[in-house]
Amino acid sequence: MKNTMESYFKNIDERELLYQANKIAVMIQEGNYLSSIEKQIGLISILEEKSSEENFRILILDNNGVVMLDTNSSAVGKTFLMPEVLLSLDGKSSSTYYKEQGCLYASSYIEDPFSHKKGVVLLVSSFENSELLIDGVSQKWFMLTIFISIIIGIFVFFASEIVITPLKKILKSINEITDGQLHQRVKINGNNEISQLGEAFNAMTEKLEQIDTSRQEFVSNVSHELKTPLSSIKVLSDSILLQEDIPSEMYIEFLQDINSEIDRMTEIVNNLLALVKLDYREAGLNISETDLNKMLDDILKRLAPLAEQKNISLSKEYLKNVIVEADEMKFSLAISNLIENAIKYTNPEGSVKVTLDCDHQNAFINVTDTGIGINEEEQTKIFNRFYRVDKTRDRETGGTGLGLSITHSTVILHKGSIKVSSKEGEGSTFIVRIPIKFADKPE
Ligand code: ADP
Repeated sequence: MKNTMESYFKNIDERELLYQANKIAVMIQEGNYLSSIEKQIGLISILEEKSSEENFRILILDNNGVVMLDTNSSAVGKTFLMPEVLLSLDGKSSSTYYKEQGCLYASSYIEDPFSHKKGVVLLVSSFENSELLIDGVSQKWFMLTIFISIIIGIFVFFASEIVITPLKKILKSINEITDGQLHQRVKINGNNEISQLGEAFNAMTEKLEQIDTSRQEFVSNVSHELKTPLSSIKVLSDSILLQEDIPSEMYIEFLQDINSEIDRMTEIVNNLLALVKLDYREAGLNISETDLNKMLDDILKRLAPLAEQKNISLSKEYLKNVIVEADEMKFSLAISNLIENAIKYTNPEGSVKVTLDCDHQNAFINVTDTGIGINEEEQTKIFNRFYRVDKTRDRETGGTGLGLSITHSTVILHKGSIKVSSKEGEGSTFIVRIPIKFADKPE
């Protein structure tokens, strides 16, 4: 900035000095001041006045470069053949800045028409004043720069505190989560990226806590579910062991009971394994084009004897022929669970109906029964693992509370959804949606 100011002021001063040199040359020319000694004496007083007014030194040189007049008097008689003088003797005006001396020189030529004498006006001006001004401004600028730097420094310090403090909080909570303390929440005020990060962090820890709780619930549910058949087996086997001379029919009866408890445990364990596989996508989906109409026919055929046992009418209505991309085994099991439930939770003489329809994107499988229904509060829970509406009755019907969880996970894996609408005492409808590959109207 100092350099820019220096060259700016230097240009202005040079131009001004040159202007003054030309003005003085014209004045000498017009006044014919070089023609006689008397006129020259008059000229010197005019120049001295001008010099003290404008604060520059004026020298008048003859056509040999010898100083005739000098407002400082010191150089009279000396020869100055500096480049500016030589240029002006050639009829040109010029100006130069001499940095080492801190001086500006400007020269202009004089051509006295009457005396035919030539000469040069040489003005010398110190650049000191401008330099003092530039130094003053530079100093102020320097102070201002330091002041601004301090302000920026303080601002950056506080700004980084605003950013770093919440990040430190989050980091501390992450470390505590790593140590197993999942109940971590951070409180970050404001509405910026950092507070959004805090909110995302809180949502994540909440999810982690939920997963941890459901894991614990799952383990305790599994233990509880397995404990019941195990204690029955224990009671049954104890009674055989403690009694002497038991009749063989009783043996058989007890062993049959033990056998059915073992079957129940096996069913629970098999269902759990199926769920774990669905959860971890361990097995992966064996996707193929699946004809939903044929799949439903197969399921209905297989479950028909179960419905017959209870005198339940099992009907179907296919509004479209639908092909989907699915893991036929898993998807068939999922739908089978729904129809089996519909039969299981419908009183004898009732009815169960399966409908298949689709729009241009999705197929819809509805399983409707005239069964016992599910109240509204329970409807949100029935897809949870081990959830059973009536535990005592379910033990009679042989339910494990895992069927709907398996159905739910399978449908989600197939990018579909499942919903239930039901009224207690009137019946239920389960609606499964799954994306279609193609569909047409049945013949
Ligand atoms: P379960 O093996 O006990 O049938 P599910 O997960 O298949 O387990 O079902 C969970 C619970 O939802 C059942 O115990 C039952 O109370 C209720 N439920 C499921 N389907 C029906 C239905 N069609 N009608 C009435 N209740 C049902």
